[in-house]
Amino acid sequence: MEKYLSQLNEAQLAPTLQKDGPMIVIAGAGSGKTRVLTYRIAYLMSQGVDAFNILSLTFTNKAAREMKERIATIVGASEAKNLWMGTFHSVFAKILRIEADRLGYPSNFTIYDTQDSDRLIGAIIKEMNLDKEIYKTKQIRSRISSYKNNLVTVKAYLQNPELMEADKMARRPRLGDIYKNYVERCFKAGVMDFDDLLLKTNELLTRFPEVLAKYQDKFRYILVDEYQDTNHSQYLIVRALSDRFQNICVVGDDAQSIYAFRGANINNILNFQKDYDDVKLFRLEQNYRSTKNIVNAANSIIEKNQTKLDKIVWTANDEGAKIKVNRSLTDGDEGRFVASSISENKMQNQLMNSDFAVLYRTNAQSRSIEDALRKRDIPYRIYGGLSFYQRKEIKDVLSYLRLIINPADEEALKRVINYPPRGIGQTTMDRLVIAANGYGKTIFEVLQNIDKVDININSGGRNKLSDFTTLIESFQVMNQTANAFELADHVAKASGLIRELNKDSTPEGVARLENIEELLNGIKDFVEGQREIVDATASLAEFLEDVALATDLDADKGDADHVALMTIHLAKGLEFPYVYIVGLEEDLFPSAMSMGTRSELEEERRLFYVALTRAEKQAYLTYALSRYRWGKLIDSDPSRFIEEIDEQYLDIITPLEERRFNPMLDADIFGDPEPNKVRFKKPVQPTFKKKGAPVSQVEKKEIPGSRNLKPVSKASSSTNLFDAKLAVGNMVEHLRFGKGEVLQIEGAGADVKAEIKFNNGGVKKLLLRFAKLEII
Ligand code: ATP
Ligand code: MG
Repeated sequence: MEKYLSQLNEAQLAPTLQKDGPMIVIAGAGSGKTRVLTYRIAYLMSQGVDAFNILSLTFTNKAAREMKERIATIVGASEAKNLWMGTFHSVFAKILRIEADRLGYPSNFTIYDTQDSDRLIGAIIKEMNLDKEIYKTKQIRSRISSYKNNLVTVKAYLQNPELMEADKMARRPRLGDIYKNYVERCFKAGVMDFDDLLLKTNELLTRFPEVLAKYQDKFRYILVDEYQDTNHSQYLIVRALSDRFQNICVVGDDAQSIYAFRGANINNILNFQKDYDDVKLFRLEQNYRSTKNIVNAANSIIEKNQTKLDKIVWTANDEGAKIKVNRSLTDGDEGRFVASSISENKMQNQLMNSDFAVLYRTNAQSRSIEDALRKRDIPYRIYGGLSFYQRKEIKDVLSYLRLIINPADEEALKRVINYPPRGIGQTTMDRLVIAANGYGKTIFEVLQNIDKVDININSGGRNKLSDFTTLIESFQVMNQTANAFELADHVAKASGLIRELNKDSTPEGVARLENIEELLNGIKDFVEGQREIVDATASLAEFLEDVALATDLDADKGDADHVALMTIHLAKGLEFPYVYIVGLEEDLFPSAMSMGTRSELEEERRLFYVALTRAEKQAYLTYALSRYRWGKLIDSDPSRFIEEIDEQYLDIITPLEERRFNPMLDADIFGDPEPNKVRFKKPVQPTFKKKGAPVSQVEKKEIPGSRNLKPVSKASSSTNLFDAKLAVGNMVEHLRFGKGEVLQIEGAGADVKAEIKFNNGGVKKLLLRFAKLEII
């Protein structure tokens, strides 16, 4: 252990060696918070604390796995294995399974992912004959989710006139009924959704003092990473479990709290010292991850937030390169810039693909990056899009498996009862649902008694239904003896799924079959990974639970060499040598939806801080002057976050692709159906050089080292419109929009905007600092 403790600095050693009592480590990005947690667990074990008595909660299961591996190298694998580590959801799903019957759930309960929840909520809205334009499924789901995460049960909701009033005001007076119906249906189906895993854990710990006592006694030491992003439900669980021994260690960074939109409560970290007596507070200040330029730039950004704890972050690392800022004309150009820059860096610095990450605000932005990477044959992987387990063909197989384990699972049943097609139509399905509700039984129970129930289905229909019932029952019999792999393999064939997919010989169809094969391989790995398969049912249930709670990061085996593409939210806690933050434009990042209040804007800024602090050696910030969003070409201004960085840390580069817009050549801008095609070999030389508009490569040579973002306006002062006095009535020419007349000028200083009516008919407001305009 001694040897390992020498891998910590003094500030890190203090919380690591603080064995007992409540403690909090508050520190900026990259200062070793996660490292402290890891070593602290190893230290506790070296001091005789039993691994079974340690609970460690992380942001992803992957993070937990990595921590465990590290601990295993220090204390030995056989001991480390006994640690309870994982996300809140996966740890408490395991506990709920053990205690399920107390809450009236079967221990083989299955888990609804958000897709299943959406489907059920959609079905309920339809059954209730509500207007789906007003009762939007996803909105209802997120509302219900937020109630659950704040422990507002249906009962509590119906006793809370304020909440009901709020939903009435939002023109959704039936929300309470939907909530009630949803909860009852989930319960009857023996399933929990993601939020239930926390809500029901809270219920378990409050309603059953003996259960609380049992887990308090078990988890004598509790550690929580990324504490700033815990929600109320998680907070209460941690509070309850740590109440007896008070050996609770949380680490976090208020500046990295980025999940408020999902219910995370930054007050959990701010109030920690009030929640426990004699809290020891530790701070870490030295960043080991990033260069000086990156650390200082990140500091200069987060400084702008009013709500924050004061923290110092510094680094002894090299100065490093400045942060490169790149402007492109379109999102397509931006993608091409990122791809060419990655190629160049790889060659110049002998790097792997996995040394690079491209981070964006929204998933939709990945497309243009993907196109460009593909064209250059750079392998990449998108994280957090539609995960493997949510693909249709995979969910179909999994739904059969879920139904075997838990025949009450309504969404699983609805998914596969007529897939592959068995001639069981929607009307039949609707009647089954009504019958099930009427008898107070599950749909599967109705199916098992189809000859006895009063239901308007003819004998042909009844036969089809009983064939399906028999099929599922035969799988259940097989499940008594076969292992999960044998069963899944049999199900894929006997259900007709494989046959169905075999009919489709398109590349997509073939890919679907391959995915199923991949799933079966995964199940095989899982089965072989189990030390002894005593109980095949347990192993299948366990596999399904792993799958339901897998985040997309978890599926990454870390073996392939690829560039990582993901949203910033997903990148929390990770690090990469080279990081590209793309789409740095107003209304995109910061998001248009998050600029209404100061606190929303501050959360966006924290998100930017998280993004920038992922970079070890070099960060790139890129933005496009126009971009396709919602099928339309939208003009954009560079994000305020670029400007907020102290300019001494920036290096504004001019994109190689920059060229004068020509609609004949640049069909890309008008929604080219084939955006991948390379259309121009030769960039068109900018012709406006002298007049100050675009700064070309040629010009860059003339003013070495100059900044070309703001300098577009500031450096070339003689001609730039930001400095020149533009007046209403002036005729101007814009690089892309052509000639036009200035209608209005508004704003002051750096924010001066001109409204221009272009000869092509369009009227646009342009920020003069960045607009490529000249007076004609
Ligand atoms: P974040 O806020 O992003 O979650 P963090 O505070 O959890 O960051 P870590 O991920 O633990 O920081 O550490 C950042 C990097 O610095 C890691 O690569 C880690 O291995 C390294 N590191 C931390 N402490 C030391 C140290 N004392 N000596 C050498 N490297 C260190
Ligand atoms: Mg960390």
